[in-house]
Amino acid sequence: MNPGYAKAVVIVASIVMVAIRAPHGQRSRGVPVARSRKGTVEVVLLALAMLSFFIPLLWTMTPVLAFADYPLRPAPFFAGTLCLAFGLWLFHRSHADLGTNWSITLQVRETHSLVTQGVYSRVRHPMYTALLLFSVGLALALPNYVAGPSYGVAMVLLVALRLGPEERMMLEEFGERYSEYTARTKRLVPGVW
Ligand code: SAH
Repeated sequence: MNPGYAKAVVIVASIVMVAIRAPHGQRSRGVPVARSRKGTVEVVLLALAMLSFFIPLLWTMTPVLAFADYPLRPAPFFAGTLCLAFGLWLFHRSHADLGTNWSITLQVRETHSLVTQGVYSRVRHPMYTALLLFSVGLALALPNYVAGPSYGVAMVLLVALRLGPEERMMLEEFGERYSEYTARTKRLVPGVW
């Protein structure tokens, strides 16, 4: 298959992701932060996430990663495109349900409320599930050993290092209500974990 298809999908998916986040990000920034836990680990994770978001785009625009290219095959390309589409839908839904409670890092806002409805009734971290699905999509649809898995590496690290501190922060903030919520939901995959 022509790698041009993969390039088109990567560019469109990246633009859609930014377009989904932009209005929510702007609205959230309007609500003052009450408590922040943006430590060194968070700063490193955010920098890594940002960098790894641009590596696939770099692959579409320059030949610097061409040494790690491999042929594009239809089955992984279509499976990857499906993961990207589902990941973006879930990214949109979780932003819509979380509203102004969203933060790029570990923060509690002044008017923070505990969200347990919509996609948050199925799992506690639908946005991270969406980002992981997006990562799987890139790894499958982008035929390059470096650019394909790069976002996934950053997202796995982000989820692995942030999930615990984030849940502790929510528990401290919402107490009993959060522990009841954790008792009836899984973290990332409904019914599994
Ligand atoms: N982990 C969630 C949210 C990611 S955004 C997800 O994957 O969908 C990160 C911020 O969301 C955290 O700083 C926290 O303040 C907030 N948050 C996480 N879970 C929340 C919930 N159930 N209700 C309200 N805010 C939440």
